[in-house]
Amino acid sequence: MFAFEKSIKTSAGGVSFALSNRFGGVSKKPFESLNLGFHVGDEKHLVEQNLQIALSAFYALQPSSKIAKSLAYLTQIHSTQGVCVSSAISGIVNLGEGDFLLTNRKDCALLVLVADCNPVLLYDKRNNALSLIHAGRAGVFGKICTHALESMYQRFGTHARDVYAFVGVGIRECCYEVGSEIASHVAQMARDSKYTQNARVFLTTREGKAYLNLQAMLESEFHELGVGESEFMQGCSCCDKSFFSYRREGTTGRFGLFGRLL
Ligand SMILES: [Zn+2]
Repeated sequence: MFAFEKSIKTSAGGVSFALSNRFGGVSKKPFESLNLGFHVGDEKHLVEQNLQIALSAFYALQPSSKIAKSLAYLTQIHSTQGVCVSSAISGIVNLGEGDFLLTNRKDCALLVLVADCNPVLLYDKRNNALSLIHAGRAGVFGKICTHALESMYQRFGTHARDVYAFVGVGIRECCYEVGSEIASHVAQMARDSKYTQNARVFLTTREGKAYLNLQAMLESEFHELGVGESEFMQGCSCCDKSFFSYRREGTTGRFGLFGRLL
């Protein structure tokens, strides 16, 4: 069900988050079994069951009888736009298109879906505010975490120094081969970066092929932003068959990062 779970308690409240794997759901091949994405071709009623199963398990990690089991997610479009959960929601709700969610509400969990893209969490320890981010190649190139942090600053007064960042399993440089056009774009981005001396951190070459390291790009972005603390989960979604991988399987399910404020 969950490959990683963690909670952080602070004087302002805290955060609970968990990354699902592909086990414990009801979907059939090629979505077996805990597919959380409606858009991949799976049967709708099975995805609904999977979301309920995973959400109940997620809330059970930090039980509280007072809080309704609501959940917000997005139709992810590889943008750098986000949606704020500012009013109460009931049940499991799609809040429209975008690639990051943010909130300071304690009565709603957030979910981002991935299958090789990076699931990212930003938690503001001082103001008890949360953002979950779908950071694929387009999102990382567009600095979606910077956009999310700017939204958190505007809404909640978040400063990077108070932020804890978590990056869950995504595709890594062991598997993420890219073409020459992307490679030269990344090389230019590396030259523009203040904290990375050259493109070799973002790109590695093996047998004449270029491999992209999105996690290194995220780490560089966090440094540039001045994020107080960051944690990167080990592993690669394309190597580890307990996760859905678009690169490995093509038609497949989605796993997800759940987060909620305490
Ligand atoms: Zn790999």
